[in-house]
Formats: sequence, structure tokens, C-alpha cells
Amino acid sequence: TPAQAASTGPASIILPDGCGLEFWANVAGPKDAALAAQSGAFGIGLARTEMLFLDRVDCPPEEEQTARISAMLAPFKGRPVTVRLLDAGADKPVPFLHLAPEENPALGVRGVRALLKHPDFTAAHLRAILRAGQGHDLRVMVPMVTFPKEMQTLRGWLEQACQETGLPCPSLGAMVEVPAAALTMPDLVPVCDFFSIGTNDLTQYTLAAERGHQELAAFANPANDAVIGLCARVVREAGSRPVSVCGEAAGDPQAASRLVEEGVRKLSMGAARLGPIRALWQGRD
Ligand code: PEP
Ligand code: MG
Repeated sequence: TPAQAASTGPASIILPDGCGLEFWANVAGPKDAALAAQSGAFGIGLARTEMLFLDRVDCPPEEEQTARISAMLAPFKGRPVTVRLLDAGADKPVPFLHLAPEENPALGVRGVRALLKHPDFTAAHLRAILRAGQGHDLRVMVPMVTFPKEMQTLRGWLEQACQETGLPCPSLGAMVEVPAAALTMPDLVPVCDFFSIGTNDLTQYTLAAERGHQELAAFANPANDAVIGLCARVVREAGSRPVSVCGEAAGDPQAASRLVEEGVRKLSMGAARLGPIRALWQGRD
């Protein structure tokens, strides 16, 4: 049992306009997931798979991937879980992929770009996620999408993995964290089942300020007008496709309020933020 009980609360609330606002969790391992479940999260909005493998120098075998991802999802049995495909590169070095050194890794081969260069790894990764997702309401999410073609290729690979495992095909969504994706939503809508806005990278790329840069900390403002404007555009242009926000903005009171004003109805954040963010709407009528 954890030393401190997590503050719990509803997984969603009804806004004055009658719409539901859902509180989801970002998790990077089994402990996060246990805390998120105790905190009453609606589901897992972002499972960061790369965090399970940061220590690996050689490629984790498919069975090990299945076991580690299963352990991360376990506290959300029967519930919605959004598993992000390995987001390697830039601030998330993944030694076993042996990505070439780059001058500008944030603008380099990362996220889906790295997956597309490693089809065998990605095929095994997809099978592991499908197997680990059994007993859950699984959704699969692709990081760092720029072009529809990237989603089409990944969807082909996902369908192949479904055939190989005999498991049903989950919905496949894109993270919107590259400004070009936010600006070309009508092209992405036909090839995506849902969208999740990654405001950490979207802020970095919109303001041309490296995330985590010590002298540029003031740029890392999730409530920045340009970033909120792009998020509003994504919601408007997603049509019937669900849109969530899974970057830090979702757990920041000021940014979260603005996102909800712009029509975001799913916020995904670290478990520790669920209490304070729910409190912004609880008791309002
Ligand atoms: C983001 O970029 O906002 C995001 C949620 O992904 P990560 O922080 O893991 O890059
Ligand atoms: Mg990101």
C-alpha cells in the first residue's frame, strides 16, 4: 500500500453546457498507473512506452515488451488505455535503436520517423502492444506525426500485426505535436481515428525554443496564445474525431481552463495533477 493515499475524485464531470469533461492519466510505468487508478482517472490517455526501455542497450524481445507493457496497463483492467508507440530520439534517447548522432535531434529522426526506419522492431512492438492490451479498451497512438503518409504506413503495419496475433484492430490516433500537423488537420482526419495534442513538443516547435533549455524556461509556457490557438484549431477541424490534450498544458490550471474554453473535453495528465485540475471545475455550476 502506498505511504500516502492518492486523492480521488470523479473520472469526469458535467460542464454547465451539458458536455462531459474527462480526466485521464499520463503514465510511464506500473507505479504511475497504480496511482492514476487510485486517483480515479477515466483511463490512460498517454502510456509512455519508451520509459520502460530507457535502460536497455539491446532490443527488448517481444515477450519482454508484452510483459512490461502489460504490467503498466494492469491497474486499468477493462478500461480505456492509450498506448503510445515508442517515442525515441531527441529528449528520449533509446540506446537499442542505435539512432545516428544528429546536430539537431529535436528536428531529427525521432518518434514516428524512427519507427519507420525500424520496421522489424515496430512490427514486434505493435504485436506486444496488442497482446498487452487484451482485457483493456486499447487505443494506439503515434508520436511526432507530420504527414498523412506516416499514419497510412503505420496503419498497414498495425493491420498486419492484428492478423499475425489474431487480435482485433484497435483505433489508431496521431499525436499533434508538430505545428504542420495542427495546420493540416483536414489531411489527417481521414487517416486518424483520434487525436491527442502533445503541448510539450507543440510548444517547443511553435516557439522555436528547445524544451528543457535552461535559459529559455519562460518559453515553456503551456498557456501561450500561439499554442492555445493551434489547439483550438485542432479541436475545430477534427470534426467527429475525439481530441485530447496529453501535454503539460492539461495539468496546468491556466492552460487547462483555456483549453476547455476552446472545446477540449479530454485532459490527460500526471496523476498528481488530477486533484488540482478537477478542483477547477468541481463545485462550479
Ligand atoms: C508532448 O510532447 O506534449 C507529450 C505529451 O509527449 P512527450 O512529453 O512524451 O514528448
Ligand atoms: Mg512529445
